[in-house]
Amino acid sequence: MSQPIISIRKLRREYQAGDEKLAVLKDVDLDVHAGEMVAIIGQSGSGKSTLMNVLGCLDDGWTGSYTFAGKDVRKLSADGLAELRREHFGFIFQRYQLLTELDAVENVEVPAVYAGADRKRRRQRAADLLTRLGLGERLSHKPSELSGGQQQRVSVARALMNGGEVILADEPTGALDSRSGTELMALLQELHGEGHTIIIVTHDPEIAAQCQRVVEIKDGVIISDTAKTAAVSGRAEQAAGLRRAPLWRGGIDRFGEAFSMAVRAMGAHRLRTFLTMLGIIIGIASVVSVVALGQGSQQQVLESISAIGTNTINIMPGTSAADRRAGNIRTLVPADAEALAAESFADSVTPQVSSSQRVGYRNVSANASVSGVGADYFRVNGRTFITGVTFNQTSVDTRSQEAILDETAAQTLFGDSRSALGQVIILGNVPVRVIGVIEDQTLGFGFGNQLNVWLPYTTVMSRMLGQRHLSAISVRLADTVDATEAENLITAILRQRHGVVDFTLQNTDTIRETIQSTTQTLTLLISAIALISLVVGGIGVMNIMLVSVSERTKEIGVRMAIGARQADIMQQFLIEAVLVCIIGGLAGVGLSFAFGQGLTALMPDARLDYSLSTIVAAFISSSLIGIVFGFMPARSAARLDPVDALARE
Ligand code: ADP
Ligand code: MG
Repeated sequence: MSQPIISIRKLRREYQAGDEKLAVLKDVDLDVHAGEMVAIIGQSGSGKSTLMNVLGCLDDGWTGSYTFAGKDVRKLSADGLAELRREHFGFIFQRYQLLTELDAVENVEVPAVYAGADRKRRRQRAADLLTRLGLGERLSHKPSELSGGQQQRVSVARALMNGGEVILADEPTGALDSRSGTELMALLQELHGEGHTIIIVTHDPEIAAQCQRVVEIKDGVIISDTAKTAAVSGRAEQAAGLRRAPLWRGGIDRFGEAFSMAVRAMGAHRLRTFLTMLGIIIGIASVVSVVALGQGSQQQVLESISAIGTNTINIMPGTSAADRRAGNIRTLVPADAEALAAESFADSVTPQVSSSQRVGYRNVSANASVSGVGADYFRVNGRTFITGVTFNQTSVDTRSQEAILDETAAQTLFGDSRSALGQVIILGNVPVRVIGVIEDQTLGFGFGNQLNVWLPYTTVMSRMLGQRHLSAISVRLADTVDATEAENLITAILRQRHGVVDFTLQNTDTIRETIQSTTQTLTLLISAIALISLVVGGIGVMNIMLVSVSERTKEIGVRMAIGARQADIMQQFLIEAVLVCIIGGLAGVGLSFAFGQGLTALMPDARLDYSLSTIVAAFISSSLIGIVFGFMPARSAARLDPVDALARE
C-alpha cells in the first residue's frame, strides 16, 4: 500500500482543567490514505472534534507526531500551518462559518485570495463551483439570505476552492434538516468518487454507514477501525486551473481584501467609528488651528515691524532688554537725543517717554498707555492717519498740550474717529486737545486692544510726569549707513556721555528675533497641550480596536482556518485603525479650516496662517497614531489560536 497522506503516532492532547490535566486524546495512532472516505464516530465528548482540529492543523497544543504528505507538521511555523490549511485542506463546519458580510461568491473566493490566485480566474471558479452545487442563482446572496442547506453548500464550494485535497467535515449535517443532510452526503460521496480524501466527524451511525471506513473513538482512544471497501485510488484535482497571479498582484489582492473588510467593519458600526474618530478629529483640528493662529499672529507682528523698516535702532536704559534695574536708570536724557541727531548717520532721532494714565472725556474714563514722542515718530514708524495731523517741532518745543489717539482710544472715548478731532480730553490731570487719530496696530494674540495716546515727549516729561529722563530713543539711520557701524558709533557716543554702558541697543532685527522666538515658544506650548488630546484620541482608537477584535474573534478563526496568514489578519485590523485615524485627520484639518473661517468672521483682526507642512505633519501623525495604537489589538488578533478563535461565540 502507498504512503498514507496523514500519519499520526502517539497523539496526546491534554486540557488544563483547574489544577488537573485532562487527557482528551490518549496516544492515538491513525493513518489515512489519499482518496479514503473516513467517518470518525463516537459519543459526545469522546474527543472527535479535538482529533479533527489536530488533523486540520488548527490546534497546536498536542504532543506526538503528525506527518502530512511526508511533512512533519510539528516543524511548521504558524504561517507554514496556514499554508498547509490553505493549499491542502478544505473545512466544512457544523455551523457553516461563512463570513456574514460577504456574498456567496466572495465567501467561496476567500481561500484563493489568500493563496494569491489570479482575480478573474478565482471569480470564475467560485461562480462555477457554486453553480455546480446548485447555487447558480444565488451567487450574490449574503449568508443571511440563504437556507442552512444552501449555506452548507457554499461552505463546500469554499472547501473546494483551492482544490480541497483533504476535506474535513465536523458534524456537517448536524444543523441541517434531513433532506439537506442527505443531499450533502450525496455531494460528499460524489467528491469522494472524484478522488478527494474526506474525513467526517459524526455521532450519527447512518451517516457513518455511508462512509467506506469507520473509526470509532471512545474517551480519547480508538476502539475500532473498519474498512468496508478499498480506497478509491483517484487523485483529487489540484486547484484545477487556478493560475497564480504574480506575487505582487497577490499581495495587492490580499491588501484589497483586508481593506474592504476593514471598510465593511467600519460601516457596520458607523456611530462607534465616528465617535472614535471624533477624538482624532478634535486633536488634529486643535493642533492645526493653534499652529496656524500662532503663525498668523507672528506674521502680523513681523509685518508691523517691517513697516518701521530695518534701519531703526532703539536705545533703552538698562544693560539688557531684561534688566530689572532699568526703571531706576535715569541717564537717558533729551540731550543724548540731540547729540545723536547731530551725527551724520542719523536721519532722524525720536526721544520717547512712556507712562500709563487715566484718560477721561466727559463721563467716559479708561486706562491708556501714554507715549511722549518726537514730531517724526509717526513718519518713522509708518503709522497712518485716519484723520487730523501730527504735531510739529514747534509743539515739541513749546510743550504743547496736543494729543494723537489711536482708533481704539478714539472709539472708546468718542464713539468714532471723526468726532474726536478738536475735543479736549483729560490725561491724568492734564487737559489736552486731540489733533489726530491713527490706525490701530495689531499685535496678534489679541494684544492690540489697549488705548494708546501720543503727545510731544516734552509735554509728557514736564507737564505730566515731571521727569527729566527718557524711556527710549529711537534713531532712524540715513539710507546708506551700515547698521552695525552705526550701533558702534552710538555706543561710543553714549558711553562717553554717560561714563558707563547703562543702555541697550535694539535694532528691528533683534526685536523680530525676540518676537519670533516668543511666539514660537507660545505656539509650541499650546501645541503640546493639543498633542495630548491627540494621544487621548489614539487611546480611543486602541480601545475600539480591541473591542473590534474581540467582537470578530470568530471571523478571525474562520479566516485562519481557510488559510489566512497572521500578517493577513494583522493587516486587516491595522488598516481599520489607520483608516479611522486618516479619515479623522482629514476631517480634523477640515474642521480647523472651518474654525479659521468662523474666527476671522467674528474677529476680523485674527489671522491664521495654515502651512502645508503643519497639515502634512498632522496627517502623518494621525497615520502614526493609527499604526502605533492599532498595532497591539491587530497583533493580538493575529496571534489568536485558530481553534480558540473558532470556539468563541
Ligand atoms: P466531541 O467528540 O463531542 O467532539 P470534543 O473533542 O469536542 O468532543 O471534546 C472532548 C473533551 O475535551 C470534552 O470532554 C470537552 O469538554 C473537552 N474539551 C474540548 N475542548 C476543550 C477546551 N478548549 N478546554 C478544556 N476542555 C476541552
Ligand atoms: Mg464535536
